[in-house]
Amino acid sequence: MGGITAGFVGAVGHTPLIRLNALSDLTGCEILGKAEFMNPGGSVKDRAALGILLEAEEQGLLAPGGTVVEGTAGNTGIGLTHLCNARGYRALIVIPDTQSAEKIGLMRSLGAEVRTVPAVPYRDPNNYVRLSGRIAAETPGAVWANQFDNLANRRAHFNSTGPEIWDQTGGKVDAWVAATGTGGTYAGVALYLKQQNPQVRCVLADPHGSALYAWVKQGELSLEGSSITEGIGNSRITANLEGAPIDDAVRVSDQDALDTIYGLLWQEGLFLGGSVGINVAAAVETARRLGPGHTIVTVLCDSGDRYRSRLYDADWLAGKGLQQPERHPSLAVPAKREP
Ligand code: PMP
Repeated sequence: MGGITAGFVGAVGHTPLIRLNALSDLTGCEILGKAEFMNPGGSVKDRAALGILLEAEEQGLLAPGGTVVEGTAGNTGIGLTHLCNARGYRALIVIPDTQSAEKIGLMRSLGAEVRTVPAVPYRDPNNYVRLSGRIAAETPGAVWANQFDNLANRRAHFNSTGPEIWDQTGGKVDAWVAATGTGGTYAGVALYLKQQNPQVRCVLADPHGSALYAWVKQGELSLEGSSITEGIGNSRITANLEGAPIDDAVRVSDQDALDTIYGLLWQEGLFLGGSVGINVAAAVETARRLGPGHTIVTVLCDSGDRYRSRLYDADWLAGKGLQQPERHPSLAVPAKREP
């Protein structure tokens, strides 16, 4: 029956591909954003959470009433909790206490057991990801979603996000640009698009405080600075990112990301999160590098609603040494970035 989806699960994916009008007109390129904030759980991570859960079920790892454990910056936990409710499981989420109160509170409202832990590097055994793995191993009837290194994550994007982008553009896509947290979105789509057309340019967007830009540009994992963005950047190459095609990288500052999301709000009416600012600013920089006439696709990962007390709060931004962009009739165009 066309038009009717089977529950929450059936509503994941099939998101619109939105032309970002002002930035497209400005650059002479078609800059298109995959509207992942329109997933039923509100973010791109619904796809990964669904893929991971379905593969665990297929492998017989989850019995009714079982527990799904995950370490997450929030969005995967939100998606997983919705899905656990829909399929009869419990969700146990470990999250760094640096993540937004909106995301932590939402997971509790949805019914997850949420454990907040101090944010420590991956090499520390108490890092939220490693801790979640231990909790899963110690909990009877539990599976560890393990989004960073479980390839079900990028398979979900290879099988859904990639084909949707290919179909929606009629195969006319010149570049794919995305920041990576687990790398699942970037890698799954990059692998799919390259398979369709090896000429598609795949560009990794990175915030400060992440080692991936230096890894792409200089071949070494080194990081400097920090970022207020959540859910993106990494100090290691995850299994999901491993082997993904990467033709170029763009690093974006927090201020450029902020200018970009406020521009999207005022000029397009789109209210989006911080990682979107990194993605779209990097897409604009990619348009500059390629020149007019190209089609560039990126991801609109989640809504600004999840960051109202942070990215959309002048006092919070000032406390981070950042300026809330002033409303201006012309688009706030990010400054040219280092090549
Ligand atoms: N943006 C946001 C807001 C996220 O929560 C995430 C997931 N951590 C990403 C981008 C990156 O997605 P992925 O894990 O697929 O690399």
